[in-house]
Amino acid sequence: MTLGGKKIVKLPCGYVENGTSIDEVEVRAMTGVEEDLFSDRNLPMVNRLRGMVVNCIERIGDVKDKAKIEQMAGKFSAEDQAVLLVALRQISVGNSYALESECPSCGVPIKLDVDLTTITVKKASKEKSPLEVQLPSGRKAKVRIMTLDDAMKTSELRLQGEGRLTAAVWVRLAELDGKQPTLEDVKGLLFADRVFLRNVFDELEGGIEETLKVTCPQCKRQFMEPFDMATPEFFSPSAL
Ligand SMILES: [Zn+2]
Repeated sequence: MTLGGKKIVKLPCGYVENGTSIDEVEVRAMTGVEEDLFSDRNLPMVNRLRGMVVNCIERIGDVKDKAKIEQMAGKFSAEDQAVLLVALRQISVGNSYALESECPSCGVPIKLDVDLTTITVKKASKEKSPLEVQLPSGRKAKVRIMTLDDAMKTSELRLQGEGRLTAAVWVRLAELDGKQPTLEDVKGLLFADRVFLRNVFDELEGGIEETLKVTCPQCKRQFMEPFDMATPEFFSPSAL
């Protein structure tokens, strides 16, 4: 396989405007600019990932204007970004992703090789978003799929000292009892309501299968090995 080309990617959610979804994106391979961006420890990971993706997008539908691309990409879902990251990894580094694991039973080191062309994507239920739900407390809420703009907002809130879970709920909560909720409203939610909401998010939002089923070659025990695309290792083992 030749690296360094371009690739047309179909997004699971895409950019939705007036009920129409634009889901075709053309990306180019990463260069040193993106490697520097990705390994910049002064930037939060969400900024690095988004910067890389936006840099490498050459076209969304018919749109080629960079400023418009940046704005549209902010409305992509997290799973759109995951699909784009895998595509970038494929054309920039290759389809094969090697990682090292260890059997949790007998401790034998295991080398794994993931074929990125076989990765499955769980589709988001975008037609359901925003979704009205009744919480265990009886309160009514409207929730929506998290976008990349929301992810940036979550990261900013974290830097301001807000709790991770509060931020993650707040950015997806379009309405609570018919009103736009404040952070204080989200903190005041019953524990059970927040657990319920997280389950709804999981149902609504798709994603990439990030767990591998591994059988230990020595003791034959089976275990699940997670892998993460939001790490420098995913793109470049030598960038650490
Ligand atoms: Zn073992």
